[in-house]
Amino acid sequence: MIKLEDNQGRRFEKLRISLLNSCNFSCVYCVGENFTDAAAKSLSMAATEQPLTPDELIKLIKSVHQLTHLKSIRLTGGEPLLYANLFPLIHRIQEIGIFDIRLTTNAYYLKEKATKLFDAGVKSVNISIDAVDQEVFNSISRHPNTARVFSGIEAALKSGMNVKLNAVIMRGKNDSQIIPLLDYATGLGVKIRFLELMKMGHLYHTENALFFSEKEILSAIQSKYQIEQMKRETAETAHYWRTSNGGVFGIIANESTPFCHDCNRLRMDSNGIFYGCLSNAHGEKLAPYIDDSEKLAEKLSGLLRLKQPVKFHGSELSMRNIGG
Ligand code: SAM
Repeated sequence: MIKLEDNQGRRFEKLRISLLNSCNFSCVYCVGENFTDAAAKSLSMAATEQPLTPDELIKLIKSVHQLTHLKSIRLTGGEPLLYANLFPLIHRIQEIGIFDIRLTTNAYYLKEKATKLFDAGVKSVNISIDAVDQEVFNSISRHPNTARVFSGIEAALKSGMNVKLNAVIMRGKNDSQIIPLLDYATGLGVKIRFLELMKMGHLYHTENALFFSEKEILSAIQSKYQIEQMKRETAETAHYWRTSNGGVFGIIANESTPFCHDCNRLRMDSNGIFYGCLSNAHGEKLAPYIDDSEKLAEKLSGLLRLKQPVKFHGSELSMRNIGG
């Protein structure tokens, strides 16, 4: 029997699925200046020629779940709300016996879909919003419509979903937005997480001049609020703090405060290629092994061994492909 636990006691408990690698936004961390969809496709399509059908997707999730007993699934992309079969897929994942289904979205289509998602069983959503200021937001997302994002966030809250906001902080681009974003989140009564920029995709071979550290984020917040650190939950990506005015924020600091040591995530891209670690671009197509649990376990165990012991080292994969 192959043990699906590595020598640091890590297991795959959460599966993050990139449903598609296309997105209506072209955020600067995902998409380089010379980006074309064809370029993204060629990277993602390297190992297969066709994105998975919903049937193939379900078969894969089921086989992996039988071995790893997944606790939750996060649907992401690309932009998961653009995925045509989203609602049937959510239903079929529940039929497998996985009920904790979460979503990461840019919220553009959330106004129309939030209630339906909640009713379908998606109780938790992470929403990416990198600025409150319209101009700053546009310069990052390269898509001019903050109003729809704000109304998407409001709709998610109204539906009853647990909402968390995520903002990637970049030097000279949106570091001015840390306090406005925190105040906006606190006003809504939701948590916000600030992310250190990761060297992924087109950023992998760069100097990462946009990098803005956890220390700098904390210092920006402390210029306005007193803060108190909260206890970190096992396998949490973020460390959290409470502010003197009752806000709660987290920082996902891959570089400054790495959290690989208890990472429990497995990722699958839209072509059915599985990745055990963000830092390792080696993916494994598991479809050929869905009826051979021993071989599948062997492959999963191999992916588990790819996890970094301590720290993320960057990757040529873009989050847009592997799923953020
Ligand atoms: N379209 C959805 C959205 O906007 O939330 C889901 C996919 S998107 C790739 C998910 C998130 O990944 C981004 O919003 C961003 O927070 C994160 N991300 C992507 N590239 C990143 C990078 N290089 N460094 C840090 N975070 C990144």
